[in-house]
Amino acid sequence: MAEIKTGDFVVPGDFLATAEEFVPGDGAYEEEGKIYSSCTGVVLVDVQTKHISVLSRASGPPKLKRGDTVVGRVEDVRDQSASVYIGVLKGRENRELPLPNMGSIHVSQVLTGYAKEMRHQFKPGDIVRARVLDARREPVQLSTAGSDLGVIVAACSRCRAPLEREDSKLRCLQCGNLEFRKLASDYRQGVL
Ligand SMILES: [Zn+2]
Repeated sequence: MAEIKTGDFVVPGDFLATAEEFVPGDGAYEEEGKIYSSCTGVVLVDVQTKHISVLSRASGPPKLKRGDTVVGRVEDVRDQSASVYIGVLKGRENRELPLPNMGSIHVSQVLTGYAKEMRHQFKPGDIVRARVLDARREPVQLSTAGSDLGVIVAACSRCRAPLEREDSKLRCLQCGNLEFRKLASDYRQGVL
């Protein structure tokens, strides 16, 4: 078991330390010689007083809200929408989200104009950058309309080699396959 350090994020019931080493402070309790967290928050280890505490955060883990930029992986593409597994919330320390958040991009929210074929916009496995339109719904409603949004990494659907940008299209350098996506302007420039 990795040793708990100051700054670690814990949830209720997480083991913090043994009672031989530490005394439970705020947000911690002792049970049968072991100290556990009683809340969700950030660990504070005071090596001088030998107290281990958990500072609970009223706001809790980061939650998505309208206007947030997220990065996710396309899971499924249908006629009317694409489903996205949201992995990273951008802009706020690029934190990983604590819970799996499923998002959905409706066909009307792919482009500024009208997107015709969803299968020409996204494919399963694509990494996309998207903006949150509505976080109160499940799945979270996302948009890729805007030049900074869309696919940022994609693999060839035939041979899985990385696709290189060729004007507004993508070309597989391995098998020559030509593919289409709703691309972000910085496709494959290394920045999520
Ligand atoms: Zn290929």
